[in-house]
Amino acid sequence: MAEVRLEGVWKIFGDFAAVKNMNLEIKDGEFIVFLGPSGCGKTTTLRMISGLEEPSKGQIYIGDKLVADPEKGVFIPPKDRDIAMVFQSYALYPHMTVYDNIAFPLKLRKVPKQEIDQRVREVAEMLGLTELLHRKPRELSGGQRQRVALGRAIVRKPQVFLMDEPLSNLDAKLRVKMRAELKKLQKQLGVTTIYVTHDQVEAMTMGDRVAVINAGELQQVGTPDEVYNSPANTFVGGFIGSPPMNFIDASITEDDKGVWVDFGEFKLKLLDGQVEVLREQGYIGKEVIFGIRPEDIYDAFFAQVKIPGENMVKAFVDIVENLGSEKIVHLRVGDIMFLGSFHAESKVREGTEIDVVFDMNKIHIFDKGTKKVVF
Ligand code: ATP
Repeated sequence: MAEVRLEGVWKIFGDFAAVKNMNLEIKDGEFIVFLGPSGCGKTTTLRMISGLEEPSKGQIYIGDKLVADPEKGVFIPPKDRDIAMVFQSYALYPHMTVYDNIAFPLKLRKVPKQEIDQRVREVAEMLGLTELLHRKPRELSGGQRQRVALGRAIVRKPQVFLMDEPLSNLDAKLRVKMRAELKKLQKQLGVTTIYVTHDQVEAMTMGDRVAVINAGELQQVGTPDEVYNSPANTFVGGFIGSPPMNFIDASITEDDKGVWVDFGEFKLKLLDGQVEVLREQGYIGKEVIFGIRPEDIYDAFFAQVKIPGENMVKAFVDIVENLGSEKIVHLRVGDIMFLGSFHAESKVREGTEIDVVFDMNKIHIFDKGTKKVVF
């Protein structure tokens, strides 16, 4: 059993709360990613789990064992937590061969020589390092060095892996390759893994679940699909997805034709289920924040969909960014600006007016005050 549990965990530096009341349960064998902008408290949380940092308040459990609780005076040091860490700077011993670098944690623990040899070779095989065992770190590429660092972490068969941006020193192409390799390796080993990154693509592609953190607070924990399609608040909606979700201030208005998201310049008719939720929660007549992802706004001409007239809008095309695989289009209706992500074959041109369609099944409404999602 190697689940990791944080209960009401705080970290306060002087008068600054870097981590605020973190409650999180990481399942045995799970790959969880801590995602958030620079300075949001991801690393501090990881360091508290590892034992490099002591929480100011709250409890941390690894498996069934309480490893930190300042109120009870419990603090188990890192070496007794049965965890292995991999960092951005993988700090290999330069004078040792790959073999000795991987063997090092086992030697420290006085594992018999024969067993060391067997485990080092097993790990090297798994990571494709067998041919490189006699080399020194300076004779390796960045990706190979990173694999040695991983080898050194997994050779001990710890209960939990803690990884802090381990791929960020690699070039873009290698990062994509290592991302897939690391994910595969983790599944193969089945070791609970906590992975810190500010890169949402890394988080979405690797995580079984993603914990989105902002300003020391956990915003949402969910599968990549959940955090993408059902963001809990405007922060999560805006942080995940590229280009980001469009947010537009609006009011919910009602007339004899229906209930609308009203932007002043134009309005969109809400679907029956959406109206029901808004009515129940008292949002009719109120100001809200409307959210829609760029890919849920279509070029009406190209999409050739049968559109209910209410949701088609004439928009002015300010800029078209052709990415090859898609076109990012900067659209404007009066003063209201938003991005659309159109099909690569869309014939949209800058300086023209086009019909765009909002996919009403994909819209989100957020409370203007709390920024929390209504639906
Ligand atoms: P990054 O992606 O930039 O590494 P992060 O989300 O990992 O960011 P942390 O390193 O956890 O962020 O830092 C969270 C906040 O706590 C930051 O504002 C940081 O300046 C502050 N902080 C971290 N360690 C200390 C410390 N020892 N003393 C004072 N403040 C600290």
